[in-house]
This record gives sequence, C-alpha cells and structure tokens, in this order.
Amino acid sequence: METQVTDSPAAERLRLTEIFLSVQGESRSVGWPTVFVRLTGCPLRCQYCDTAYAFHGGHWWDMDAILAEVAQHGVRHVCVTGGEPLAQKRCLLLLQKLCDAGYEVSLETSGALDISGVDPRVSRVVDLKTPGSKEMARNRLENIPLLTPRDQVKFVICDRTDYDWARAMLAEHRLAERCEVLFSPSHGQVRPHELAEWILADKLPVRYQLQLHKVLWGDTPGR
Ligand code: SF4
Repeated sequence: METQVTDSPAAERLRLTEIFLSVQGESRSVGWPTVFVRLTGCPLRCQYCDTAYAFHGGHWWDMDAILAEVAQHGVRHVCVTGGEPLAQKRCLLLLQKLCDAGYEVSLETSGALDISGVDPRVSRVVDLKTPGSKEMARNRLENIPLLTPRDQVKFVICDRTDYDWARAMLAEHRLAERCEVLFSPSHGQVRPHELAEWILADKLPVRYQLQLHKVLWGDTPGR
C-alpha cells in the first residue's frame, strides 16, 4: 500500500494499515462481503491480539482517497477496525462520511475509549475485555449506558473464569436488554464446543460466534 500524497489539510487524514475486501467474519453482519478499513495504532495489548501488525507503521491517507478506495470495491458493507480506530480522533469524521455515502457502516472498538461521538447511523461493536485478555482494567464502563439496539457488545472468552465473569457482567448491566451480546471463543485458548455447551447449559441470551474468516483463511493479514 503506497502513501497517499495529499493537498488536503491534515485534519482530513488518517493513518491506515490496510484497506481490503473480505467476508465479514463476526458480529451481526457475519457473512456479508465487506470492505475493511484498518486504522493504525492501539493503546491496548490484549494477550490474544491477532492484529499486532496494526500497532505501528501504516501510511497517511487522505479522507477522499479512503472513500475512493472503498467505493472501487463496490460493496454495501464497510467495517472500520484496527488496532483501535477511535484512537485517531478523525475516525469520527470518516465514519460520518461513510454513512453519508450510503454504506452500512460498522465500527469495531476495544471498549476502552469514549464511543459517544460516533455517528448514530453506525453499528458499534464494543468489546468488554475479560480478565483473560489482560486488559480488563481498560474497560470504559461509561460506554455501557450509551449502547442501543443498533450496537453489539462482544466478549472474547479465554477460559471458564472469563465465561463466569462475562455471565456476571451480562446480569449486572442487563446487557441483553440494551443490545445484542456476542460470546466468542479466544482462538486456540478455549475449545469452541466447550463455550457453546456452557452457553446452552445456562441458556444465556447471547449469540455464540466463531470467527468465520479464521475458518476460511486462518490468521492471514488482509483477510
Ligand atoms: S484492542 Fe484489539 S487491536 Fe488492540 S490489542 Fe486488543 S485485540 Fe489487539
């Protein structure tokens, strides 16, 4: 990916790791052909992170160049991800422009940063970091009252302790009454069928998810 030379004011640029077309592997939009816009940088260091290549590097892109690159893929769904996309304040402007252009826009965020400025047309997929992530202290619980039925909360479960913690959070914050709640096994850390059986045993009102893109392509970047 080459640096996008621009005459635009710096206020309209973002640092990007990649833009690519793939199949959405998780969330409510699973299965849809989707353009992913991966912003560079993240202030967290989850132990299971599979996008550490987005922590550093990347290139500056003009906002219009991002929109043009998204458009040339010709699909309706766009996912803005990272890294932690909200770590760049101009991400809010990108989300607004993507919505204005008529896309179905989702945002994947760690849950550590304020989501209140995100365009209400965006479907926010907000992580709640479990003890096993090693970043639980970063959860911004003030985000929880802001969640609406357009949004989703995601727990990546590493072990039984994480599951019990997530179940307690579900009850304490009545999360399932606010939005859809996703439980996903941490790849290689909890056996996928085990998590499914725990959810069924407790009849939790959550959606179980496997990361479809990993089933299809493993850990290949840009997929
Ligand atoms: S928030 Fe996401 S990108 Fe950042 S370290 Fe955690 S898993 Fe990786």
